[in-house]
Amino acid sequence: MKMVKKHILIVPGDGIGQEVTAVGKKVLEKIAAKFGHEFTYDEALIGHEAIEATGDPLPAETLAKMKASDAVLFGAVGHPKYDNDPSAKVRPEQGLLRMRKELGLYANLRPIKLFDELLGASSIKPEILKGADILFFRELTGDIYFGEKGRKNNGDTAYDVAEYSRYEVERIGRKAFDAAMTRKKHLVSVDKANVLESSRLWREVIQKLALEYPEVTVEYQFVDATAMLLIKDPKRFDVVVTANLFGDILTDEASQIAGSMGMLASASIGDGTGVYEPIHGSAHDITGKGLANPLASILSAALLLDISFGLKKESETIINAVDALLKKGFRTRDIADASTPANMILGTEAIGEEILKLI
Ligand code: NAD
Repeated sequence: MKMVKKHILIVPGDGIGQEVTAVGKKVLEKIAAKFGHEFTYDEALIGHEAIEATGDPLPAETLAKMKASDAVLFGAVGHPKYDNDPSAKVRPEQGLLRMRKELGLYANLRPIKLFDELLGASSIKPEILKGADILFFRELTGDIYFGEKGRKNNGDTAYDVAEYSRYEVERIGRKAFDAAMTRKKHLVSVDKANVLESSRLWREVIQKLALEYPEVTVEYQFVDATAMLLIKDPKRFDVVVTANLFGDILTDEASQIAGSMGMLASASIGDGTGVYEPIHGSAHDITGKGLANPLASILSAALLLDISFGLKKESETIINAVDALLKKGFRTRDIADASTPANMILGTEAIGEEILKLI
């Protein structure tokens, strides 16, 4: 067995980000001990916490530490103060957007896989859901989010330009095709090529790439059709690749396939340090109450080991531990239902302890 030495930066951020990354880190420590790896850790500030301490949502020190680490385990950013004040000039999410830009994190991966024990937790019928296993690739650094934006006509007209360059589509397309080759060899490329020029370029680039991957079956869908099919028949999807805005919306929709926001992990990757984080936010409503589900952070740690370090067995050990935990009947409040006995509903730390035992 190969022993690896890696440096991991923990960036908890705001709200429940603090609580869940603490558990994610413990899981990484346990894996290192079990498999004989040497992981070193550091911590850094981002978001509201960083604004309070330095005035900057992404301090230079944090960015330097990110660039110097082998991977980042990230929590969440956000604070009610800013949610209720859209005019605030300095905002926690600026830290997140700048981090993605600075680290060149152009691909956001979201595996959507429902643990059998949670079939009942989704609002979709179990027979439609069972067996669904989708890997989303959302483009992260282009599109309407980063194009020119402004106002005209004395502020009465506003615009946001959706822009893509060939190389931006090609690099994420390639990652999606590569992933499809290791799975069921089926790729759905989502766009709106019937009306958007940026989508027509998107489709053209994917069609060209497809020639290099003759084994992969490619399906081209309009985003409105995908939104419908995800709920109607989630099992028809394997790998999905799409632009920033469509991906933002579709992946939140797809999160309901997995039952709860508290269960879903994501990876943001590019050509440098990868960042691994739950898809949920800072959840002010439950912050500090020990109610946060840490499984998304734990599963983010599993993704980190797999994607950034190539440690497949270690990653699977974590996923199997989560599966075993759910089979034993343990739940956090967000994934419990009327049939869950009160003594099986655990808080953030207690669920973490059970996972450590199962690893
Ligand atoms: P949210 O994901 O924080 O919470 C939505 C709902 O899901 C809440 O009721 C919350 O209690 C619940 N929830 C979320 N994660 C959970 C977990 N691990 N365990 C149990 N329940 C969980 O989204 P929101 O309420 O729309 O946003 C709150 C703040 O988070 C805002 O400031 C927003 O800007 C920020 N946000 C940050 C990120 C990020 O950092 N990537 C993502 C989304 C939202």
